[in-house]
Amino acid sequence: MIELICIGCPKGCKLLVDENNDHSVTGHSCQIGVEYGRNEVLNPTRVLTTIVKIENGIHNCLPVKSSKPLPKNKLIEASRFLKDIVVKSPVKTNQVIVKNILDTGIDIIATRDM
Ligand code: SF4
Repeated sequence: MIELICIGCPKGCKLLVDENNDHSVTGHSCQIGVEYGRNEVLNPTRVLTTIVKIENGIHNCLPVKSSKPLPKNKLIEASRFLKDIVVKSPVKTNQVIVKNILDTGIDIIATRDM
């Protein structure tokens, strides 16, 4: 059994995911917990938020995020890739900074104008 706390809402249900029973989930109060528990064990993902360098902006760094959650095992590699990215101002919010990062089908987008 894998124990997890559901992050779907502030209630924080304590979930148990049974690896030996088709990853069935117990301890949830709603379907969100079932989906969270299964995904967290089988295919954990996170939205990546970080910064890239920017030239000619009012700051030296531009905040960016992934357009969708990335597989958790790609987060470090994606962060390393973005460390070497330099964009030029002007940039608009939601502008694609890196398309299809690491062939995930997910873009890295700006989270503010600069
Ligand atoms: S299982 Fe449902 S009620 Fe419980 S924490 Fe998750 S989202 Fe909230």
